Amino acid sequence: MISAVIPIYNEEELIIQFHEAVSDALKRTGDEWEVVYVNDGSSDSSLELLKALQAHDPHVVIVELSRNWGHMGAISAGLRTASGRAVILMDGDFQDPPEILPELVNAWRSGAEVVVGVRKSREERRKLLAILFPMFYRVLGALSDFPIPLNAGIFGLMDRKAVDSILAMRERSRYLPGMRAWIGYRNAFVYYDRQDRAGGDGKLSFLSRIRYAMDAITGFSYKPLRLSLIMCAVSACFAALLITSMLVATTPLAITGLGIAGAVFLVGGFVLLAVGILGEYIGRVYDEVRDRPLSLISRVHRGETQVAASSLGSALPNAAFIVSSGVNSVETSTRAA
Ligand code: UDP
Ligand code: MG
Repeated sequence: MISAVIPIYNEEELIIQFHEAVSDALKRTGDEWEVVYVNDGSSDSSLELLKALQAHDPHVVIVELSRNWGHMGAISAGLRTASGRAVILMDGDFQDPPEILPELVNAWRSGAEVVVGVRKSREERRKLLAILFPMFYRVLGALSDFPIPLNAGIFGLMDRKAVDSILAMRERSRYLPGMRAWIGYRNAFVYYDRQDRAGGDGKLSFLSRIRYAMDAITGFSYKPLRLSLIMCAVSACFAALLITSMLVATTPLAITGLGIAGAVFLVGGFVLLAVGILGEYIGRVYDEVRDRPLSLISRVHRGETQVAASSLGSALPNAAFIVSSGVNSVETSTRAA
């Protein structure tokens, strides 16, 4: 069985045609298949449309989350629910083209355990993002302590082994392309042209993109911390220079004053930047320690049956209905039960 996991947040314009395209592509693989749609607290008619699709197509599984948890929370819930021996991850807006799914599956059949979709080109109508994406990949490439395929998002396929490994990774700040590279296994790459979304507006806010970019950098690099160490050393040198020059001052007072002001701003700026960098890491440490779930499922709709998370929980005390990242999810839900 092959599962496709697709996060859905207010995609009413696209769902019907998207499902048609995905199911056509999955049929072509010749395997058993299911499509796990994770409704990430949509406020439009997405959920109703998914239920209507399910009424006609038993391949559809709907995971209803308790609220909007964001892209990564939705994906984690989907990964936990998917039962396939291979799991495809893709967005529900045609930016990850359904027609190349058979290619991903073929690469898996030929022995790859992780198949990564790499963007040959990218169409982006939002100008600012068109500038920021390449910048982000350049910075990540330079900083990461671990080689992460650049120009790749979540799109790809993972063997069951790889999916279980990702679910066993406990971290809360999740940069999936990095995690997928980190787990290893036999990798294959499939190249594609990334189109703009087929309809509707982008659902990720600018702030959530920045947070995701910071997750990527802090999750896979200590270099920013080392950079703050260097900045501290540079400011210490400046301070020493300043004190020396004040002791042997021969320059007019105005220039010295300006010099002092400049140095204070520079040192102050460096210190604040270093504190900011530290804050990014410490904030994430706090998230890890609190160990909150990545997302909560309120219901899973499978064909005719509908499973409420709470009843699942009471029937099976260890059921991981609290979607967390792996081993500790069971602990969390046991505690909750
Ligand atoms: N999405 C989600 N929860 C959110 C935001 C987005 O599940 O809070 C879904 C969305 O429906 C889409 C995918 O995640 O299927 C990617 O979102 P989007 O296309 O807006 O991101 P972009 O492609 O612009 O990075
Ligand atoms: Mg998109």
